[in-house]
Amino acid sequence: MSEKKLIIPEEKILSIVNNYPTPFHLYDERGIRDNARELIKAFSWNKGFKEFFAVKATPNPVIVKLLKDEGFGADCSSLPELVLAERVGIRGEEIMFTSNDTPAEEFIKAKELGAIINLDDIRHFDYLARHAGLPDLICFRYNPGPLKEGNLIIGHPEEAKYGLTESQLFEAYKMAKESGIKRFGLHTMVASNELNPTYFFETAELLFELVIRLSKEIGITFEFVNLGGGIGIPYRPGETPISWKVLSVGIQEKYEQIIKANGHPDLRIYLESGRAITGPYGCLVSRVLHIKDTYKKYAGLDASMHNLMRPAMYGAYHHITVLKKAHLPHNVKYDVTGSLCENNDKFAIDRMLPELEPGDIIVIHDTGAHGHAMGFNYNAKLRSAELLLRPDGSVIQIRRPETIDDYFATVSFDQANSFV
Ligand SMILES: *Cc1c(COP(=O)(O)O)cnc(C)c1O
Repeated sequence: MSEKKLIIPEEKILSIVNNYPTPFHLYDERGIRDNARELIKAFSWNKGFKEFFAVKATPNPVIVKLLKDEGFGADCSSLPELVLAERVGIRGEEIMFTSNDTPAEEFIKAKELGAIINLDDIRHFDYLARHAGLPDLICFRYNPGPLKEGNLIIGHPEEAKYGLTESQLFEAYKMAKESGIKRFGLHTMVASNELNPTYFFETAELLFELVIRLSKEIGITFEFVNLGGGIGIPYRPGETPISWKVLSVGIQEKYEQIIKANGHPDLRIYLESGRAITGPYGCLVSRVLHIKDTYKKYAGLDASMHNLMRPAMYGAYHHITVLKKAHLPHNVKYDVTGSLCENNDKFAIDRMLPELEPGDIIVIHDTGAHGHAMGFNYNAKLRSAELLLRPDGSVIQIRRPETIDDYFATVSFDQANSFV
């Protein structure tokens, strides 16, 4: 398979490895900022356009703060995510709270912050009213069911736990109007890692048409539609990224044809993309610890699936570059593994790579979103550091590696040793 370009030059990564122990996730600030600016520029036709960065993708305060500086809001779905947004100065309607199966205290916090509350179910309307009081702006999440094809990660919409059916939506907005709410938005999120831009044009069409029907039937107008996230990135060599410009033009076309043509007032387009914002601008840097030769050849790294769960969880492809060896023939077939006592702890299966030796530095591409964030502590594995390469070439540690003390912080050996 062809090579995939490193986001950060090889010599730079090798110099960072001299100063920071592997494994670590490394992000490229310049790449993230340029990407954010391109997105905002592409949607400049739409007054009030906003991207709410899906915090769950890379919940690091420095990353969320630098995206705030570029004009992004935050899409949060839990109490700690709301607190993270609040603590980097994202306020009020710059926060979208898109949750499901939501506990009362999260609604209370979201309401207190003045966040846009996006309800996942019609019953949540009363629940919200009871626990937090009604906001003056409400949004509901639409699940189009069989009207829309799903994809591998999120599954078919009618199998997905999220959102309201179409008939529930009509009931929900009517109920909201009767309760005195005057400001409305509509949301959906039906794809994950989707690389075909047409998919998003169809989603926009579906939502815009629904906005027209809902507003006519109920007698309300909408302020925004949130098209969700789910925009894919080219994990595999040879795949093509979705250009923000192409995405924007296709959505604008639908906007003119449906929203404008029906005389609906201006509508703000919102996105809550995570993967396509930071995904390509991060990588996991690791080192080969052991080579093993049994029924197959194994390259064991100092990283494990607790550093990057996607390959084990979804069978996801992440490209691997071996530093200083990328030019050599890729003529040895390896399973690239971690050290967890789980046989699915593999970053790659049957991957053709150059001949590896202990000490080789491995770069696993495209871990800038849903990478470190999905980490866990099973097998007492400690999560790695996160580093940020600044535009001036300097490197800062934006999350330290976990320690054994962190791991034991929630239990007590005194309790254990006095336990009879
Ligand atoms: C995960 C998630 C996103 C972000 O998804 P990406 O694939 O990272 O773009 C956005 N909105 C909601 C509600 C999500 O659950």
